[in-house]
Amino acid sequence: MPAPRIAVVGSGPSGAYAAQLLTEESESAVEVDVFDRLPTPFGLVRYGVAPDHPRVKSITTSFAEVFEETPGLRFLGNVQIGRDLRIEELRAHYDAIVFAHGAPLDRSLGIPGEHLHGVDAVRDFVSWYQGHPDQSVDAFALAGANRAVVIGLGNVALDAARMLVRETDDLRRTDIPEHIVEAFAASTIDEVVVIGRRGPAFAKFTNKEFIELLEVESADVVIDPADLELDAEQQAHIDADPAARRLFATFRKAAERGRLGRPKTIRFVFDRTPLEFIGDASLTGIRLAKTSDPSATEVLDADLALRSVGYLGKPIDGLPFDKRTGTVPHRDSRVLDGDAVVERVYVTGWIKRGPNGVVGTNRKCALETVTSVLEDIAVVGDRSNASGADVIDALLAERGVEVIDWSAWRAIEAAEIAGGEAVGRERIKLHSRDEMLRAARVLADA
Ligand SMILES: Cc1cc2nc3c(=O)[nH]c(=O)nc-3n(C[C@H](O)[C@H](O)[C@H](O)COP(=O)(O)OP(=O)(O)OC[C@H]3O[C@@H](n4cnc5c(N)ncnc54)[C@H](O)[C@@H]3O)c2cc1C
Repeated sequence: MPAPRIAVVGSGPSGAYAAQLLTEESESAVEVDVFDRLPTPFGLVRYGVAPDHPRVKSITTSFAEVFEETPGLRFLGNVQIGRDLRIEELRAHYDAIVFAHGAPLDRSLGIPGEHLHGVDAVRDFVSWYQGHPDQSVDAFALAGANRAVVIGLGNVALDAARMLVRETDDLRRTDIPEHIVEAFAASTIDEVVVIGRRGPAFAKFTNKEFIELLEVESADVVIDPADLELDAEQQAHIDADPAARRLFATFRKAAERGRLGRPKTIRFVFDRTPLEFIGDASLTGIRLAKTSDPSATEVLDADLALRSVGYLGKPIDGLPFDKRTGTVPHRDSRVLDGDAVVERVYVTGWIKRGPNGVVGTNRKCALETVTSVLEDIAVVGDRSNASGADVIDALLAERGVEVIDWSAWRAIEAAEIAGGEAVGRERIKLHSRDEMLRAARVLADA
């Protein structure tokens, strides 16, 4: 009997783990096609995980080994499901489809002034400094600005704050595009204020990320000791939660350490709710209220405000979607339309459980999904779509889609490494889709 064919939509951690586990856990051979709308694999490991976190990013080495060494596993980059191929076409040519397309939108605050120039989603800022092809090269100008505000107390908020104060030399040790390094070098921002709606006991970032912030030599971290006097609710929380307790102990050390005379400042302001962004066309300030006493309001001057209050899934035509949670509804990873299971369609990663967890969390999530896929395939084992690969390839060719396969991706990588070596850097990411496709074509033309 021909091997069952499975499509995985998305090559971020959840898609990559799902592809790996499908091939490892299946008792018989399976064919897996992994699609990504970008010409590059690895999703947020390439475009989210901070460039100064190389150890986390190195997971791509083991994902790459899987793509290179697993028979029957293909990467089809630069193919957007829902646009280049419809879900019905996947259903016709694959035995199962696993959606692993992440959460690419962001939550807004829903307050006046959010449209002002200078008020942005942290997601856009991260995508910009990571050189994401959907973000224009000049999306952010940091020259002329003095104070940036980051709203939110998660790890992503800390990534953004840290990047805003990093020295240019540190940035050149990463793979971010040179024009982005130059934009940071031109930055005049000398204070970043991180604002949390709740008190410090409820901060969501990890102690590890906060310690890393304290170690950035270009910036003092300022915490007002008065903010560390806990009310009963915060005290109960840290009594019950060891991670919150550890972080709180580090807050105390930071407050005691005070300023060290470093050129820039990262200041934490807790217990504040943003009410309004102020400015004519561009942001000039933010009106805040004390969360614990809404009658106490103040205006904080600011030139840039990044809201970091969560990523959100995006619907794909033909796939059920829960607008409230921003995820695809499922039972045991089997996609649900109302109460009914959509046969042979599964979900994993951020689009299944929402934007939470570290890279490794997606492995456990993918294993649950793969277990359901393989159970169902065992039951309907005679429904293989053996001719699928050729049909899919022909459809994409007919539609003029320039598919980036694994070797074309390797050509993009080689161009990035060569571009870095030419200027004494290890690697420099290509920013535009055109640059990537040109690099891939060099291989095709060779
Ligand atoms: C800014 C940021 C920093 C982070 N830092 C860390 C960290 O330091 N350490 C850590 O462990 N975790 C970190 N994380 C979390 C980690 O990145 C996520 O857990 C993980 O990437 C989620 O994986 P995913 O596969 O579900 O989604 P994603 O990684 O988003 O992958 C989804 C993929 O699907 C593709 N796609 C989307 N739509 C389509 C479509 N229609 N057709 C085809 N392809 C499509 C996308 O292009 C993308 O490649 C960070 C996250 C963010 C946002």
